[in-house]
Amino acid sequence: MVTSIPKLIIIMGPPGSGKGTQAQLLKEKYSCNYIATGDLVREMYKKAATGDPLGLEVKKRYDRGEPQPDDIILKFVRQKLITIDTQRGIIFDAFPLSEAQARGLDEIIKDFKLDKPVAINIKVGEEDVVQRLSLRKYCPKDNSVYYPKSPTYDSNKCEKCGKGLIRRADDEAGVVRKRYKKYIDRINVLVMYYEKRNQLISINGEQSVEKVASEIEQRLSTYQSDYAQK
Ligand SMILES: [Zn+2]
Repeated sequence: MVTSIPKLIIIMGPPGSGKGTQAQLLKEKYSCNYIATGDLVREMYKKAATGDPLGLEVKKRYDRGEPQPDDIILKFVRQKLITIDTQRGIIFDAFPLSEAQARGLDEIIKDFKLDKPVAINIKVGEEDVVQRLSLRKYCPKDNSVYYPKSPTYDSNKCEKCGKGLIRRADDEAGVVRKRYKKYIDRINVLVMYYEKRNQLISINGEQSVEKVASEIEQRLSTYQSDYAQK
C-alpha cells in the first residue's frame, strides 16, 4: 500500500451491499492482504476431517448454524497474521463483528505493532437490500452469484458451467428484512466504537460499484490529513 493510505482497513456493509466486491477492488489496487473471518472459519472446519480438536469444535457450531465465539475468532486472526507480511497492509472483511472483537483487535494491533484501523461503513437502506437480494440468482453447482447486470442473468445460465440458475429461500423479502435488522443491531455497536475514535468513514452504498469504489479511494487518500485536522 502507498503510504498515504491507512494500512489497516475494516470493511463493513449489509448483505448485498457489494462489500465483498469493494474489498476485492482495494486488494487488487493496493496489493494488500485480505482477511475474511468466514474463510478462516472454513479453513478450520476442514481440519475437523483430520481429527484436529479445534477443527471439530468449530465444525460442531458451524453445522448447528451457531456463530463462533469471539475468543476463537480472535485466535484465528492472530494465527493468520503470523503467516502474512503485515507491512503490505490488511483489509478485514466481516471482522470485527462485536465490541469484544473490536477490543481484541486493538490488543492485536499493539502486539503486532500495526497501524490504527480505519473502518469503512458501506451504508445501504433496508429497501435497497431487499430489492438487490430478491433479484439475486445462484448456480446450484458452484454457488456463483448473479445480479441483473450479469450478461447471462436473463438467459438463466451459469457463465462458468452452463447450469440453470436458481433463487434461494433466504433471499425472500421477509427473511432478508429479518437479517437486515440483525445486521444493523450488530453494526451499530461497531459504528459507535469507531466513530468515537475518529476512525470511521461512511460511504453511500446506494450508487454504482464504480462510484462507491472511487468514493472509498478518495476518502482513504485524504483520511490521514482529515484525521490530523480533528
Ligand atoms: Zn455454475
